[in-house]
Amino acid sequence: MAGRVAERAAAMGAEIVELAGDRITGLKDDDPRTEYRRAKSTLAVTVASAGAMRPQPIPPSADWRFDLATGCPAHCQYCYLAGSLKGPPVTRLFVNLPEILEHLPPLSGQGRITSTNADRAGEGTTFEASCYTDPLALEPLSGCLSETISWFGERSDDLSLRFTTKFAETASLEAAVHGGRTRVRLSVNAEEITRRFEGGTAPLAARLAAMGRLARAGYKVGLTVAPIMPVEDWEGAYDRLFAAASAALPAGADVTVELITHRFTPGSRDVLLGWYPATGLEMDPAVRTVKRNKFGGRKYVYPAPLMREMRATLEGQAAARLPGAQLLYWT
Ligand code: SF4
Repeated sequence: MAGRVAERAAAMGAEIVELAGDRITGLKDDDPRTEYRRAKSTLAVTVASAGAMRPQPIPPSADWRFDLATGCPAHCQYCYLAGSLKGPPVTRLFVNLPEILEHLPPLSGQGRITSTNADRAGEGTTFEASCYTDPLALEPLSGCLSETISWFGERSDDLSLRFTTKFAETASLEAAVHGGRTRVRLSVNAEEITRRFEGGTAPLAARLAAMGRLARAGYKVGLTVAPIMPVEDWEGAYDRLFAAASAALPAGADVTVELITHRFTPGSRDVLLGWYPATGLEMDPAVRTVKRNKFGGRKYVYPAPLMREMRATLEGQAAARLPGAQLLYWT
């Protein structure tokens, strides 16, 4: 696969550099913005280590997580990866796909998400491929997402694939033999948020059109509405989002909805402010509530009364606009 990626990248005008080891040089800079720009425009084509290939439990999104890549070429000012991946934000694409996939079948029937079992009936043991990357962003170069979809589609056990994306080039996915074993969720938001904070991603209308095409190609689909923010007229903005999603879908589509509010940690805030010093994204601990995890780590979420109001509003809108959809969780 490495040769294919190099060929396609060269055809797109990228400089190809062969390295003897895993160390990428020339990224460091005293200015975090310069370092960020260099790293974001670098794709390392490499192999996943034994540790990186070991699937991890990942509730509530899925039973297990596995990675086709880490990092992402887009520029979302709230990026979930900030602070969770070490070092400059280079994208690393793993080319030992058969080896990565070999680790999944032994997990069949293990690690089920008990709280959402009823919602997931029929999906078997679920594997999430978008925890540390946007796999559709890399598909034009690698083709490894459609290969993975076909691998799941051709199996006779209960494994199923899920991933979420902010990209919209779906031709290779529509051609893949998915066998109904993949759920593609489009990561969406109020239009103003997608325009202000999600640089380098597909426009909202293109993502919704992609969801419609995939549903018509027989895929299970979904909306990952994230990160939800109480921007001006948020009630109207999210209602328009659900209405547009409904209009994009064919009748009878199998759709899920996940609702995820904006949050940050002290570490992700520091990283994001280094990358986007002029961001208009609210990351003010003074207007947030602190939530502690079992290891003492802090994250800042919206205060409980606002959370309740947003939850009631968005759940109501999703149910009204997408009456056939399964609401998986609010967080
Ligand atoms: Fe981060 Fe996802 Fe945006 Fe990529 S698309 S920059 S992974 S939030």
